[in-house]
Amino acid sequence: MKSFALAFFVATSAFAQSIDSMIDRELPALVETYKAFHIAPELSKQEEKTSATVAARLRALGYTVTDHVGKYEDTGSTCYGVVAVMKNGDGSVLLVRTDMDALPVPEKTGVAYASQNANVMHACGHDIHMTTLLGTASMLAQLKSRWHGTVMLIGQPAEEVVQGASAMVRDQLYQRFPRPDFAIALHDNASMPAGKIGYCPGYFMSNSDSVNITVRGLGGHGASPQSTKDPIVVASEIVLALQTIVSRENSPLDPVVVTVGSIHGGAKRNVIPDQVELLLTVRTYKPEVRKRVLASIERIAKGIALAAGIPDDRAPIVEMQKAESADATYNDPALTERLARALKRDMGADNVVQIDPLMVSEDFGRFALDRQIPICMLNVGAVDPAKIASGARLPSLHSSEFAPVPEPTIRGGVKAMTLAVLELLR
Ligand SMILES: [Zn+2]
Ligand SMILES: [Zn+2]
Repeated sequence: MKSFALAFFVATSAFAQSIDSMIDRELPALVETYKAFHIAPELSKQEEKTSATVAARLRALGYTVTDHVGKYEDTGSTCYGVVAVMKNGDGSVLLVRTDMDALPVPEKTGVAYASQNANVMHACGHDIHMTTLLGTASMLAQLKSRWHGTVMLIGQPAEEVVQGASAMVRDQLYQRFPRPDFAIALHDNASMPAGKIGYCPGYFMSNSDSVNITVRGLGGHGASPQSTKDPIVVASEIVLALQTIVSRENSPLDPVVVTVGSIHGGAKRNVIPDQVELLLTVRTYKPEVRKRVLASIERIAKGIALAAGIPDDRAPIVEMQKAESADATYNDPALTERLARALKRDMGADNVVQIDPLMVSEDFGRFALDRQIPICMLNVGAVDPAKIASGARLPSLHSSEFAPVPEPTIRGGVKAMTLAVLELLR
């Protein structure tokens, strides 16, 4: 038994080494692909050329590719979703997703392959994700004797506005194409050493809800407050009272963020305006906490207006911006632990580390259909280890200075995703 286990271990590590040499052969071309994506970023819902490249490359690798998959709620925009299927005998169906969109950020990295589209930048590393997906797709096409089942590769548009995953599901993704047994994805990480893999079982990224509050008062002369209902004072009280949702209504063990990121009202110092607009972002994990926090926001806004004597027909209007909301990314614990074990075995325990959950959001969770399909999003470090060791300030994701180190990041990403697919479809 022992010798069998030893033989198995030697065989798997030899296999991991042969993957290394396969990736090494492809790496120069993958880095060129990455730079080509980076130099020509496209904003959310405008990924026409990017998606065409992804589709053409996957077709050339032998995948059955369908493009223009997805329907946005606003029917005016074209959806550039890509679905590439490779069936290799019987077995499970595995969805592997990359996002494709860039951000309205003017690039300041100084790299030679910096964006040539003014004020648009791959500042979240979706170019790394696309390159990783293409590299993984190539590995899988070459390694068909090592897996069986169906891989379904997804090029998802409009992640940064959290509409792309929903649009693809809305367009009968799981009726037109095989319904997956698992779904996995990779995101780069702006604080981990390049090529290292991070995993987080359970909640990984939060629910995100956008809420608009219009506080309506009764305007008038700034010197005659007695004949007005001042919405600036009421809005100010609401901003402060909203902080008690986290501090007084919520269990300290359930993470919640309520941020008022924008407040606008009034135009002149001696005029009390008719209304004030508050724009909020709300982050939660558990569905019951999400529901309660959103209800509390409405209760507090309306209660404070009532206490200020604002008539019922001028009560605050509290609106959820449904199109901007995202569900939490909940990494199925069993799936995540299984992948972590497999990756530690083949990449070394030092290179695969557990990381903390984040309060940022993603729409990858939509592919899980309310946890009906187990999903897991892994991270790949994108930062020069020497820079981390120096204690220098590290630009975050979405920063105009975020510049992943291409080679080790892509190598780690392709290796991890290839090994993940081979584990799940072995
Ligand atoms: Zn982003
Ligand atoms: Zn991103």
